[in-house]
Amino acid sequence: MRIALIAHDRKKQDMIQLTTAYQGILQKHELFATGTTGLKIAEATGLSIRRFQSGPLGGDQQIGAMIAQNEIDLVIFLRDPLTAQPHEPDVSALIRLSDVYSIPLATNLGTAEILIRSLEEDAFEFRKLVHGEGKDA
Ligand code: PGA
Repeated sequence: MRIALIAHDRKKQDMIQLTTAYQGILQKHELFATGTTGLKIAEATGLSIRRFQSGPLGGDQQIGAMIAQNEIDLVIFLRDPLTAQPHEPDVSALIRLSDVYSIPLATNLGTAEILIRSLEEDAFEFRKLVHGEGKDA
């Protein structure tokens, strides 16, 4: 899965905690992020991440373009609902494109955890189907 990770400044600590907690799952996937978010996650976890521009400098739009090209499978966008953002149109456009292309999108920690855990469960279900692993004896 190709996963995009974005966090506004006051949500970056949440993003670091999330990616640290689920590092074991995330490392099995291809990760993308806006500039500062990606840097902070990489520093904290060592995860390999392709970084784009910082959000206010076009990073959200770069990820939006990937969504439009069917190159992103899941978006975790921890946005700050209490602070006005200079790039609000870009934020809205990214969320809109996720809806246009039916890409799973989490905008808060609760949904993000459910989506990330579903990756593990899906993989488990897949392994069970293909290899018969995890079946009751
Ligand atoms: P940043 O951008 O990761 O470069 O801080 C995120 C955003 O503000 O959209």
